[in-house]
Amino acid sequence: MSGVAATTRHRPARAAVFLDRDGVIIAERQYLADPQGVELLPGAAEAIAALNRAGWVVVVVTNQSGVARGLFSLEAVGQQHARLCELLEGYGARLDGIYVCPHHPEGEVAAYRQVCGCRKPAPGLLQQAAAELELDLSASWMIGDKPSDLQAGAAAGCRTALVRTGHGAGVDTVALDRQALRLELVAAHLADAVAKLGLAERRPSLRCMAAGRAA
Ligand SMILES: [Mg+2]
Ligand SMILES: [Zn+2]
Repeated sequence: MSGVAATTRHRPARAAVFLDRDGVIIAERQYLADPQGVELLPGAAEAIAALNRAGWVVVVVTNQSGVARGLFSLEAVGQQHARLCELLEGYGARLDGIYVCPHHPEGEVAAYRQVCGCRKPAPGLLQQAAAELELDLSASWMIGDKPSDLQAGAAAGCRTALVRTGHGAGVDTVALDRQALRLELVAAHLADAVAKLGLAERRPSLRCMAAGRAA
């Protein structure tokens, strides 16, 4: 098998909807530590279930600098996500991946004190997910409640939408550079974004899937 065949065998195939966690799926609580504090925002689980049914790969990308700041452990973040998945399951919703940046350049915990490529607005979490889940970033969306979410999405090559929940309520959207952020929509909340972008009806493109499978 030649090297060329090996590199062309796995082409990015699936389109994703990347979601920020705090203020988009669950209630924004500054530095949430307790898994029992995970609270779904109204309509968010139903919106994720609709994305699942439409065939989108649904991936959470979340900055959790509380780990670097010594406010809670990475294990606690894992427990929050177990709780989140349990809550979503009750609505027939599931996440295909959860990617976490635990870093901060000025964190207290040495192991996580660094300038990294994964803390949004950097696109590292999305790029890591794309590599591992074989995603087509140019066919994917990033939905967040902060401009830094949109920056990360745009830097990864996705189109973006801002929701007015969480920190989104306070964002001055007039000041946003819509073109640079590849911002297509400002929505009231996640379900509103999914509805207005037509994501529940639209089957994502699955180009190159056959080639990938055949190899
Ligand atoms: Mg957020
Ligand atoms: Zn990071």
